[in-house]
Amino acid sequence: MPAAYPITEHTYDVVVVGAGGAGLRATLGATIEGLKTACISKVFPTRSHTVSAQGGIAAALGNMSNDDWRWHMYDTVKGSDWLGDQDAIEYMCRQAIPAVIELEHFGVPFSRTELGQIYQRPFGGHMMEFGDGAPANRACAAADRTGHAIIHTLYQQSLRHNAEFFVEYFALDLIMDEEGVCRGVIAWNLEDGSIHRFRAHMVILATGGYGRTYLTCTSAHTCTGDGNAMVLRAGLPLQDMEFIQFHPTGIYGAGCLITEGARGEGGYLTNSEGERFMERYAPHAKDLASRDVVSRAMTIEIFEGRGCGPAKDHILLHLEHLDPQMLHQRLPGISETAKIFSGVDVTREPIPVLPTVHYDMGGIPTNYRGEVIRPTDSDPDAVIPGLMAVGEAACVSVHGANRLGCNSLLDIVVFGRAAAHRAIEVVQPGTAHPPLPDSAGDAAVARLDRIRHSKGGRKTAEIRTEMQRTMQNNCAVFRTAEVLRDGVDKIDRVAKSFADIGISDRSMIWNSDLMEALELQNLMEQAVVALYSAENRTESRGAHARDDFPERDDENWLKHTVAWLDGGGKVTIGYRPVHLFTLSNEVQAFPPKARSY
Ligand SMILES: Cc1cc2nc3c(=O)[nH]c(=O)nc-3n(C[C@H](O)[C@H](O)[C@H](O)COP(=O)(O)OP(=O)(O)OC[C@H]3O[C@@H](n4cnc5c(N)ncnc54)[C@H](O)[C@@H]3O)c2cc1C
Repeated sequence: MPAAYPITEHTYDVVVVGAGGAGLRATLGATIEGLKTACISKVFPTRSHTVSAQGGIAAALGNMSNDDWRWHMYDTVKGSDWLGDQDAIEYMCRQAIPAVIELEHFGVPFSRTELGQIYQRPFGGHMMEFGDGAPANRACAAADRTGHAIIHTLYQQSLRHNAEFFVEYFALDLIMDEEGVCRGVIAWNLEDGSIHRFRAHMVILATGGYGRTYLTCTSAHTCTGDGNAMVLRAGLPLQDMEFIQFHPTGIYGAGCLITEGARGEGGYLTNSEGERFMERYAPHAKDLASRDVVSRAMTIEIFEGRGCGPAKDHILLHLEHLDPQMLHQRLPGISETAKIFSGVDVTREPIPVLPTVHYDMGGIPTNYRGEVIRPTDSDPDAVIPGLMAVGEAACVSVHGANRLGCNSLLDIVVFGRAAAHRAIEVVQPGTAHPPLPDSAGDAAVARLDRIRHSKGGRKTAEIRTEMQRTMQNNCAVFRTAEVLRDGVDKIDRVAKSFADIGISDRSMIWNSDLMEALELQNLMEQAVVALYSAENRTESRGAHARDDFPERDDENWLKHTVAWLDGGGKVTIGYRPVHLFTLSNEVQAFPPKARSY
């Protein structure tokens, strides 16, 4: 370790990086299993992005309409445009029911029906009867603050079980040994500037998404995908990074989210002619078609000159026809958000909206137990010992090419729990740690040191804006070879310019200048991989819509992209087969077919 950076050592059975819903559920589970567990988070746990989730968490409880976990599974496979792994989707949809009941018992204050059961609303792409029936009431909601209710409950339960937290610690990199086993993480304590080496038999990455690669997104400023970048730097691949979800209803200009629950409760979209245009694009599901379908329809309306407002550049979302009492009770959060960020009183006038980057389907490849995968020639599902990933950072893959609303809060809870179950199968509590070379983690600290003392001509904000503009313009809702090629060239140039970064604060204590530069480096690595992966996939599937290849091409592209990034910025692309099989005989796999709503 460089002498300027004395190091504090810690040993745990399990170290979880991230304290959003995924990290907290894994921490709680591992602690309950009797594993000595530490949870590291760069922000206070209840400030993680999960807190802002609005609409709900999907589970086929059938409280307010007929429902079946197999219908939920079918909808998720269809929503994924058949790129999701069906064994994992079966696991998630089936486990949804006990996982949500468990949340209720943990104390999540769900909204209630008159009978006192958990309230459930319709959500995009969730239907009855294997897609042939009416919309299913499947989204379990706590008004429109479901994430807030879940994260506070999980944090309190974790404290109750004496989980150990390292709050405002910034994880820098994984510690990998020569055999390719993950042995821990290196972290920087933002408060006092000290460096910490956490050794663990199992590291669980739960670091969330990388929405901040874009200029306008619904995710928090902290969503910089740090864990994904740690994986790339450890020489491991990321999967399906070309699939980035645009949510149809970000507030025009501000990008803040208006939940799909607004349409679930009866809201609808119109163009400049006052037409409810979704009826043309999705005659059956209409405004409740899945997100990729609605975002594309809105974009086409605007392209064809039917956008609203003086610049004809947005769409209107109507709630003013709904009962104000219902809005007050079921959608209080978005009523307030609309007022603050667009000046609109939702009981009187429509909200101006625009598709906005919202969720990353891609991430760290894992199996349904949470174990991280590094595909080899002989085994596309080979597991890396000592490393797991859960939540938006992971690509299990349950969302495939397009995630359904309310399936992410579900994913974080189900797989956070699954990871804890798996951890106790492979880690014996209290096992001694084999020695590590003294130099373990040096590279991470050297990287921090380089940026800390950087004196180049380019500011973090300047490089970041250029990266975000490139993603916004060149990796958008609709894509073509030309635009993506240009994007790849631009992002390569922007990424190279990171070498010329200069920061001005050289301290180690609460140095947000340094932290933002480290986050930018993480974002940049993912932007590069996302653009290369998008350019490479010459078909349209889910959120990846190519004007020049408008059809889905199962013959050539029914496979996951896996992409590696080397230290020189070179991307190498490979593939993994999609799991078109189930875990049990209680459901058959759904063979690919055309997708319409
Ligand atoms: C506005 C909004 C509304 C949404 N609404 C819904 C909804 O209604 N239903 C639904 O299903 N989904 C919804 N989603 C999606 C869903 O909320 C997220 O995908 C999910 O909460 C992600 O959880 P997570 O635990 O994986 O990550 P996060 O909640 O983002 O947590 C990441 C954690 O990692 C930590 N971390 C990151 N980097 C580091 C580092 N370097 N060192 C240490 N710690 C680090 C952070 O401190 C944080 O604790 C919504 C998303 C948004 C943005």
